[in-house]
Amino acid sequence: MTAREVRPNVPFRGVTRRDLLTAGCLAASVAGVGLTTRPLWGQQAAGAGDAPDIDPGYVGPQFFDKKEEQSLLEVLESGSPFRYWGPGHPDKVFRFEEEFAKYMGTKFALGVTSGTAALDCAIAGLDIGPGDEVIIPAYTWWSDYTCVVHAGALPVFADIDRTFNLDPKDFERRVTPRTKAVIAVHLLGGPCDMDPLLEIARKHGIAVLEDCAQCVGGSYRGKKLGSLGHVGIYSFQINKMMTSGEGGALVTSDPVIYERAVRFHDMGAMRGVFVERTGAAQLPTFAGENFRMNEFTGAVLGAQLSKLDSMVAPMRSSAGKVYDGIKDLSGIRLRHRPDPKGDIGYCVGWEMKDKAARDRCIEGLRQRKVPASTLTGSVLLPIEESVVNKRARHADWPSFSSSEGKKIQYGPDCCRQTLDNFDRFVQVRIGARYTERINEYLVDAIRRVYRDVV
Ligand SMILES: *Cc1c(COP(=O)(O)O)cnc(C)c1O
Repeated sequence: MTAREVRPNVPFRGVTRRDLLTAGCLAASVAGVGLTTRPLWGQQAAGAGDAPDIDPGYVGPQFFDKKEEQSLLEVLESGSPFRYWGPGHPDKVFRFEEEFAKYMGTKFALGVTSGTAALDCAIAGLDIGPGDEVIIPAYTWWSDYTCVVHAGALPVFADIDRTFNLDPKDFERRVTPRTKAVIAVHLLGGPCDMDPLLEIARKHGIAVLEDCAQCVGGSYRGKKLGSLGHVGIYSFQINKMMTSGEGGALVTSDPVIYERAVRFHDMGAMRGVFVERTGAAQLPTFAGENFRMNEFTGAVLGAQLSKLDSMVAPMRSSAGKVYDGIKDLSGIRLRHRPDPKGDIGYCVGWEMKDKAARDRCIEGLRQRKVPASTLTGSVLLPIEESVVNKRARHADWPSFSSSEGKKIQYGPDCCRQTLDNFDRFVQVRIGARYTERINEYLVDAIRRVYRDVV
């Protein structure tokens, strides 16, 4: 697996490393990009000795078997790849939604085409639009920002803390009378500290949208992520846990949020299957999109869902062993995990004293063929050029043409704590097929490199 694949922002941005180096305001992300554009792990490296082959790979595809095959064949043979009708009796997406809601502990689930589409549906579900503000973490994936902008609302950034996720204190500082929702993003396999976040949201009457794209199957104090807030979303793109290549889902227990999300995902329509779930259609039709999931996707996801716990268990166990093996290192500040039992073990993370120490640490680990990097898979959004310049798809866009939109300033000054944290964090990827030998090797390598660097 190359580093490029775990940093989808690199090809997405369409900029070269040189562009990044010449863009002054991007300085904070340069080290990360520079280090991760070289495929280091999985290659023979000097000094690596007899290192085991450590490649976390893509989780979901490692679990593909007869179950996905059989389910896909059923769709092919039935001639019914569309969820609502066809020559057969299409029910893959419907059944996946039923099972997914049950697994997450919510009343309703909706299958859609991507995690990004699920976010757009969730924002529509919460009735967010021009004049509203939505608080999002300064380090997260683009879609958490674009879903707010596409709705004509104003994205307001809050800093991340040592959980790698939203800092509840900074979230509260960014609340204004216009704040309508907060997106609690559970990044890199670890849940946000939901109790304080939920408490602050309740106090101010703010809706909570959980983005669980990077933490599918995770939980917080015994509740599945996505079920704690008003609405939750998931991605099934290949870098996430269970996968159908592309795909997404939304869950909620609120029939009105569900109906609005359903209508938005299907041209404003609330078809019979959904009316049966909620009991009645309560709202008039409005302008929607087409984000419907197809039966092939539903077939693969149904099979993958039945294996989700067996994907999470080995990763959680490996991550737990690595954390246990390094926690006594003198002065080490591990990623703060508000509920280690709910962490899916996607990575093991810790903090170094500064950026130079972080870079030396990553370099040393990579020489030992350890899949180490800066935080990956997300973007330092407030310092992205298109964000700094508040560029939407039309020059006169309500998000930024309102008086609040004109006033707001993005850029490094709105997220100093995030930039600072980003510069100090190291992560090591964990795979679902790591052996005891790999777990032990990781502990040994981290201990050696950490002691050398500190
Ligand atoms: C991947 C991801 C998304 C978007 O999911 P897609 O299926 O790629 O559209 C949203 N939020 C986060 C945090 C993600 O990692």
